Amino acid sequence: MARERLYLFDTTLRDGAQTNGVDFTLADKLAIAGMLDELGIDYVEGGYPGANPTDTELFGTKRKFHTTFTAFGMTRRPGRSASNDPGLTALLEAKADAICFVAKAWDYHVRVALETTEEENLASIRDSVKAAKAKGREVLLDCEHFFDGYKANPTYALACAKAAYDEGARWVVLCDTNGGTLPHEVETIVAEVCKAIPGDHVGIHAHNDTEQAVANSFAAVRAGARQIQGTLNGLGERCGNANLVSIIPTLKLKPEFSETFDIGVSDAALKKLAQTSHALDERLNRGSNRHAPYVGESAFATKAGIHASAIAKDPATYEHVAPDSVGNKRKVLVSEQAGKSNILAELERIGIKAEKDDPRIGRLLEVVKERETIGYAYEAADASFEMLARRTLGTVPNYFDVTKFDINVEQRINAKGERVTVTMAVVKVKVGDDNMISAAEGNGPVNALDRALRKDLGKYQKYIDGLKLTDYRVRILNGGTEAVTRVLIESEDENGDHWTTIGVSPNIIDASFQALMDSIIYKLVKSGAPA
Ligand SMILES: [Zn+2]
Repeated sequence: MARERLYLFDTTLRDGAQTNGVDFTLADKLAIAGMLDELGIDYVEGGYPGANPTDTELFGTKRKFHTTFTAFGMTRRPGRSASNDPGLTALLEAKADAICFVAKAWDYHVRVALETTEEENLASIRDSVKAAKAKGREVLLDCEHFFDGYKANPTYALACAKAAYDEGARWVVLCDTNGGTLPHEVETIVAEVCKAIPGDHVGIHAHNDTEQAVANSFAAVRAGARQIQGTLNGLGERCGNANLVSIIPTLKLKPEFSETFDIGVSDAALKKLAQTSHALDERLNRGSNRHAPYVGESAFATKAGIHASAIAKDPATYEHVAPDSVGNKRKVLVSEQAGKSNILAELERIGIKAEKDDPRIGRLLEVVKERETIGYAYEAADASFEMLARRTLGTVPNYFDVTKFDINVEQRINAKGERVTVTMAVVKVKVGDDNMISAAEGNGPVNALDRALRKDLGKYQKYIDGLKLTDYRVRILNGGTEAVTRVLIESEDENGDHWTTIGVSPNIIDASFQALMDSIIYKLVKSGAPA
């Protein structure tokens, strides 16, 4: 039987841009739109032309995408004609394939917020759809507050949706603007709407205020809707929008949906989902959610010894889908509860051959446990675990020695009379018979140390040129005078590979130094640098 087409609409660049702390540049928007296009998203909403210079510029040039590139904006203002509304005119002039209008669908909002009549609001919807159609654009209507509006006055909410559909809008999108509607309510209301408007013209736009935006999206699909709106990583104001990164694999991998629907995302694109999700975080300069379904670092991680040995025998026993189907990896955590089977499984995963009764495995387990009692957390630092394992097994060359480092932090008044803090690090490194001294300034002691350390590693320099630090996290353990600092550093290389290293010490600089050294040496081992 032929599968039905289900459409995906991404609003990361419009609704997602409302997220606290997110501010996209034009370059960000173009890069993210490119990622979404490659993923196979049907509609990418780029922004609100006329509302800010970035979005106006974005829509000032015709963009070459496969996706239907969509501009967002308001329907004509009450009391004006469509041709006499500058906002609408700007929207119609935008170089977009489609226009998504937003209009109120709750009679209370029409009266109180818009201060107009119900009939004038319907006329505004009809006129705006008509004007965009006349410009040759595909038209969508976001019905704002649809579910709350429907509960208050179902006849009027439906009339707003119907006005757009009857005027030729391709999609009528039902928005749960406040995000408080529950899945069973969504299912009931969408089913009612689909009696008046065919489901293949109905979309769902859910917000995550009860942590059910994804569930609400699926509830709408079950009731007949055939377009899902959402954002990458669930970006969006307050608690976010429906997370497409969770929705896509569920549609692709769960038979209830995959046997019924086709979406624009191919199996090959699905394998890059984790990478896409992480690339967005990187652009936003924020750490990825380790516990994100499907794509998080912990999504396929197992801790207890009993599970680890079962996973080694048959991975499917503890996994609901195959990790590589979404571009993720299975991970067996090395932890305080670790048994030998965890250690062996983890060694196998990172490609180190070891025999079960090798006495060095017992020693490695001892060292891991000892270090975890003083604050190391190897489950969060895969690369440091690998370095510890390789050192215990005797396979890490002694590439170089840091014989001395010195960090100087100085606060003073500069020539402009401003108070500035300047940090300078000097590092002495011995590579073979060569002694080298490097100095670098940084915006803080760790940054300066990192720069100086990586400035000149002699014959190893070429292996670490593509290395960069992407995240740095500090935690103080124990508290009081016994406090120790745990530093986690996330690094990335020119191939887009990520790894995390750890350092623990009463001194934050020393802890950072350990984590930096592990990261550099990990990179040298990984690149096959000669001893
Ligand atoms: Zn929204």
